[in-house]
Amino acid sequence: MTAEVIDGKAFAARVRGQVAKHVAKMKADHGITPGLAVVLVGEDPASQVYVRSKGKQTVEAGMASFEHKLDADTPEADLLDLVETLNKDPQVHGILVQLPLPDHMDADKVINAIAPAKDVDGFHISNVGLLGTGQKAMVPCTPLGSLMLLRDHLGSLSGLNAVVIGRSNIVGKPMAQLLLGESCTVTIAHSRTKDLPEVVKRADIVVAAVGRPQMVTGDWIKPGASVIDVGINRIDAPEKGEGKTRLVGDCDYDSCAAVAGAITPVPGGVGPMTIACLLANTVTACARLNGLDEPE
Ligand code: NDP
Repeated sequence: MTAEVIDGKAFAARVRGQVAKHVAKMKADHGITPGLAVVLVGEDPASQVYVRSKGKQTVEAGMASFEHKLDADTPEADLLDLVETLNKDPQVHGILVQLPLPDHMDADKVINAIAPAKDVDGFHISNVGLLGTGQKAMVPCTPLGSLMLLRDHLGSLSGLNAVVIGRSNIVGKPMAQLLLGESCTVTIAHSRTKDLPEVVKRADIVVAAVGRPQMVTGDWIKPGASVIDVGINRIDAPEKGEGKTRLVGDCDYDSCAAVAGAITPVPGGVGPMTIACLLANTVTACARLNGLDEPE
C-alpha cells in the first residue's frame, strides 16, 4: 500500500483564501479590520522566522499586523504591561506571545494575562477549560489544523481509535481533546508509555507530536491508518552537501507511507495549517468581540 499524501500546503492555502474573503466582507459591511498582535521577546532564530511569516500572511489576508519586539532582558512586568495595553486596544483582536520566553519569565503567567477572547493561540486556562468541557473555545492552532486535515480526509472520525504521541499543552493534550470531541477512542502516549509500537499499532489515527526525528517507523503503523506528523526536526543532510540540513517529521516518512492509508509530509503537512488556523482564529475572535457572524 502506498499512502495518500495529505497536502497541508494546498489545504492551508484554501483556508487562507476563505479567511481573506471573510476579512474583506467584515471591512466592507462593518468597517472592521481584524488585527493580530504578535509579541516576540529575544532573538531566538526559529521564533523570528515564525513571527515574520505570521506577519506576512496576516497582511496578505487583508488583516492588520502589529509586531512588538522586546529585548531578551526585558523585565516580565514590562511584557505584562504590553499585554494589558493590547488587551484594551480595540484594533487588536488576537494576541500571540511567541514561545519560548526567556528563562526569567513565567510563560503561564504571561499567557494567562492575555484576555481569553483575544487568546488566538488557545493556551489561556479559560480556553483550555472551555475546550476540555466541550464549550466554544479558542482552539490551539496546530491541533486545530491537524483535525481539519483528518476531517477532510476521513469525514466522520466517530468510533476510530486515535493515538496521540506527546502530551504537551501546546499540541498533544489539546489534540487529544479535539479527537475525543469527534468521538474517537483516544490514547495519549508519552515518554513513559510502555510498548509504544504496540500501542500505536492499534490506532486508526496516529498523531505524532514528539520532537524526535523519524521515531515512528512503518512497522508501528496499522495498515491503512491515517498518520498526522506534527514534528518538525532539522537533521544533517550530507547528501545535499557539506553542512547542509533538512527538515523531517517525527515519523519515518518512507516506511510509514508504505503502510499507512494517508500521511502528512514534513514539510508541507501540518506546518502550513498552523498559521492558516491562527489567521482563522483571529477572524473568529474579531467576529465574537464585535458580535458579528463567525467564519464557518
Ligand atoms: P514537547 O517537547 O513539549 O513535548 C513532546 C512530547 O513527546 C512530550 O509529551 C514527551 O513525553 C513526548 N516524548 C518525548 N520522547 C518520547 C518518546 N521517546 N516516546 C514517546 N513520547 C515521547 O513538544 P511539542 O508538543 O511542543 O512539539 C512536538 C513536535 O511538534 C516538535 O517536533 C515541534 O517542533 C513540533 N511542532 C510543530 C508545530 C507545527 O506547526 N507543525 C507546532 C508545534 C510543535 P513526556 O511528557 O513524558 O516528556
